[in-house]
Amino acid sequence: MAIQKINADSNHKMNLNVGGMTCAACVLHVENALSNIHGVLSVNVNLATERAAIVYLSDLVTINNIKIALAEAGYTFAGISDEDREQEQFLRTQVIKDHRNHFLIAAFLAAIIFLGSMKTWFPWIPSFLQNWYVLWALATPVQFWIGWQFYRRAWIAAKRGTTNMNTLIALGTSVAYLFSASITLFPSFFNAPGITPTVYFDTAAIIITLVLLGQFLEARAKGQTSEAITNLKDLQPKTALVVSNGKQRIVPIQQICVDDLVVLKPGERVPADGQVTKGFSEVDEATLTGESMPTEKTIGALVYAGTINKSGNLEFRVNKIGKYTALANMIEMVEEAQGSKAPIQAMVDIVASYFVPVVITIAIITFVTWFLIGPEPTLTFAVLNAVSVLVIACPCALGLATPTAIIVGTGKGSQNGILVRNAESLELAHKVDTVILDKTGTITTGTPSVTNIVTTGIPESEIIRFAASAESGSEHPIGIAIVNCAKERRIEVSEPRDFRALPGQGVEAKIGRFSVTMGNRKLMQHNGYPLEQLDKVAIDMAADGKTPIFIAVDQEVKGIIAVADSLRPESSESVKEMKRMGLDLVMLTGDNPRTAQVIANQAGINTILSEMMPEQKVAAIKNLQQLGKIVAMVGDGINDAPALAQANLGIAIGSGTDIAIEAADITLVQSDLRGIPKSIKLSRATIKTIKQNLFWAFFYNTGLIPIAAGVLYLFFSNGTVPNSLQYFLGNYGFLNPVLAAGAMAMSSVTVITNSLRLSRFNPS
Ligand code: ADP
Ligand code: MG
Repeated sequence: MAIQKINADSNHKMNLNVGGMTCAACVLHVENALSNIHGVLSVNVNLATERAAIVYLSDLVTINNIKIALAEAGYTFAGISDEDREQEQFLRTQVIKDHRNHFLIAAFLAAIIFLGSMKTWFPWIPSFLQNWYVLWALATPVQFWIGWQFYRRAWIAAKRGTTNMNTLIALGTSVAYLFSASITLFPSFFNAPGITPTVYFDTAAIIITLVLLGQFLEARAKGQTSEAITNLKDLQPKTALVVSNGKQRIVPIQQICVDDLVVLKPGERVPADGQVTKGFSEVDEATLTGESMPTEKTIGALVYAGTINKSGNLEFRVNKIGKYTALANMIEMVEEAQGSKAPIQAMVDIVASYFVPVVITIAIITFVTWFLIGPEPTLTFAVLNAVSVLVIACPCALGLATPTAIIVGTGKGSQNGILVRNAESLELAHKVDTVILDKTGTITTGTPSVTNIVTTGIPESEIIRFAASAESGSEHPIGIAIVNCAKERRIEVSEPRDFRALPGQGVEAKIGRFSVTMGNRKLMQHNGYPLEQLDKVAIDMAADGKTPIFIAVDQEVKGIIAVADSLRPESSESVKEMKRMGLDLVMLTGDNPRTAQVIANQAGINTILSEMMPEQKVAAIKNLQQLGKIVAMVGDGINDAPALAQANLGIAIGSGTDIAIEAADITLVQSDLRGIPKSIKLSRATIKTIKQNLFWAFFYNTGLIPIAAGVLYLFFSNGTVPNSLQYFLGNYGFLNPVLAAGAMAMSSVTVITNSLRLSRFNPS
């Protein structure tokens, strides 16, 4: 994953808003249209966000190329997203309004046509409304004015030799409309013995109305699915109180610069990232971390844009603004994840692209069958059944099933301090059966402190000086602990030369004219340094759960510094929860087996792999994968990055190093291990929602095709449908095309509503 990201960064990326996408088939059409542009390297289209993410070579691709390519394919370029959020918001509400107005006009006309057509039900209707020519006149604007969009899109698709849901709607309603028009013009031609023909203008008009209703509800609900991210964006305040030359003035957020001093009053939102220079307060960071307890901030503490200052006054120096803040990074990551495509979706897209031609074929077969062997009047039944098939099979719900769930799921994650890199990671997490946890910094807090110092022949302060000097170049928690120890004891630290970190083992450096090598037992043995009686001391330290670090000066082991790290407070709770969920747990560490055993016991983990070098960590994961395990690796350090990348799912601790976060698929912003079971539960819930959605979409789109095609005739062939069902099934069990349209509109609504249910999911 990490590699892909780096490649993408070296090219240019752009998110486009695409107008006019209505169904799953459109996704492939837009992807094809954009990827055919010379210079476009990759395209990813998301139906639910109506966006296309493209990676391209900047000198080859222009906005104009994109506009033309989209227009040729029958879609519109609706701007570059993120560039102008208010404009985007405005366009979105405009689209929703347009859908609503079209729907209302169509509904009004359709209602009148319906009343006029149902002579027997509504005898009080003025008789001129029952006149076929009047019904025809009322149906025409619905068909060709309001319904024009379906023809236009169907035509554009046809020119490219493709089809989509508009093809089905245009075809279905036109057949009903033209059939009725012919009956109106030549009633005698359709007269059969004992049967007077009727017209079906109401069918055509109601189908169009229902499709529009579906579109309107869909447009509205799509807005809601990305609410989590919209809320995040609204967290950024519009102004800030900046101090310059002792004076305070209100400055628009765009004008804040790095190094400005900003004053925060209680209740205000932090406008940019920075470091506190004055004051004391509690800050609610829930928006970033999901943690509801406020954090205390005093001089030197970091504050982040979008968090809320609760109690006191704070002054801070800005160090990151605009799109560089932690909040902006988080928004970018969530949006990228929401726009990405789950592997399950790729399959659905392919199915959808074959769907429409298959449906048209089934409709033709339906027509021919009933025309040849159906009950009288054969032509009418043949036409109506074919219309039902065309209408019920629109694959719009299929296209929305996966992306809407992914959007709600990733948004839900970000609210809980779980940042998911992409849809694939979210999809994969539910399959995880083995969770591997790094010890230092993951199960433990990663802020160890020095507990014992043992020396042979040289003073304690001297061994600390060597150790701390050598470690002053190290980022490892152990190194930091030793440097801190020296600071506390006010021991002068000198600059190391030729510093070298030996990942998973220790460090070496030159201090003055001495060469210092320090680290674990393995490192000493590897170098052939005898440990003598210090080995026994180290074993006892390890039995207490401490990590002994040997220090060799000029090839001679001179002492041991033991550091101890405490368990994260929530470690054992989350281990229990993961065991309860049926996950296998393994602790992985570069530390010695004894210390590892003590920590594992405290956390409640039974399987331990100790003294692992970074590449051995990778090999251990590969082994498990070869046994068919789906492995999640949780880690924090640089030395965990290869393992995070190797694992099926890499989970980084938020307080960990950037490299670990970069290599991971999921980041736990709050650095809380409970995020691991939460992530897996969130993934399970999301996948469950996707499966339910696909079921409903297939149920509506394909399950009802046989009924639309008229199989119920087998049970009702002598016209025995009970009276109460006659509106739905006629005399012979043929589905009323209006109901087919209703089912189709309901399918999209059901799917989106089901995805929105996920936003009530509580992963704890
Ligand atoms: P973990 O897998 O528990 O995070 P590491 O792989 O980072 O641990 O390190 C494994 C062992 O290597 C440590 O327990 C320690 O003995 C030694 N070590 C690593 N880095 C250092 C360092 N900077 N200074 C001293 N010892 C180190
Ligand atoms: Mg670690």
